[in-house]
Amino acid sequence: MTTLYEVYAIKYGHLDGRPPDALIEGADPHESTLGISYFIWLCIGPDGPVVVDLGFSEKTGTKRGRQVIRTPMAGLQAMGVALADVKDIIITHLHYDHVGNFDAFPNARFHLQDTEMAYTTGRDMTDERKRHFFEVDEVCAMVRHVYEDRVVFHAGDEELFPGLSVHHLGGHTAGLQCVRVFTRRGWIVLASDAAHLYRHFHDRLIFPNYHDADGVLAGYDKVRDLADSPDHVIPGHDPKVMEIYPAASEDLADIAVRLD
Ligand SMILES: [Zn+2]
Repeated sequence: MTTLYEVYAIKYGHLDGRPPDALIEGADPHESTLGISYFIWLCIGPDGPVVVDLGFSEKTGTKRGRQVIRTPMAGLQAMGVALADVKDIIITHLHYDHVGNFDAFPNARFHLQDTEMAYTTGRDMTDERKRHFFEVDEVCAMVRHVYEDRVVFHAGDEELFPGLSVHHLGGHTAGLQCVRVFTRRGWIVLASDAAHLYRHFHDRLIFPNYHDADGVLAGYDKVRDLADSPDHVIPGHDPKVMEIYPAASEDLADIAVRLD
């Protein structure tokens, strides 16, 4: 029997006024500016919480001109999650806004695609454009975690628990993975940066920083196939997610929404 999960998006940051061509390749720069939100995701199943991504650290966010509304850890704690109880963290990819804060989870293992580790420690990173969204200290930290038996590597599509699996996509980064999770409304896909905004996914637009543009497009087909409908695909940075879905509770308005 497949397990049911509760799934939440937790917002920890926001950035307004982005020029459209900073988010969408080929967009008219005169079009009105766009906002992006920053999320982590929480899946609650019978074996405890599974956290998807970790957001950026305050230090890195400040360095890159991004503001933290509240830390991702504070968001999780507001949801009643004790950080020491988090055993499994899925890292969709190693961009700075998905893998900071790893040191706040002393008992967690990090689930990562083989290809993401190879990508971020190899030849591709000699290209400034490709390495732009990685922090070398965070990549090095993940290498250290390997030597501490805290990284669980995945190759392609793998079930972590009944009702929760990871799926390699590539495209945006070589080892980008999404998460497919079974809920009371069916199979949801946490697309992360496979689709920054709904617009990327629905109109097959491309975020300007990528490893492989064809892989980005193939990723749209794969997340669509994995989800029960297009409405079951959750983009990684779309402010609309906070409007479409209901607050996780009255106290958590503008902090967390329930996606299932
Ligand atoms: Zn990214």
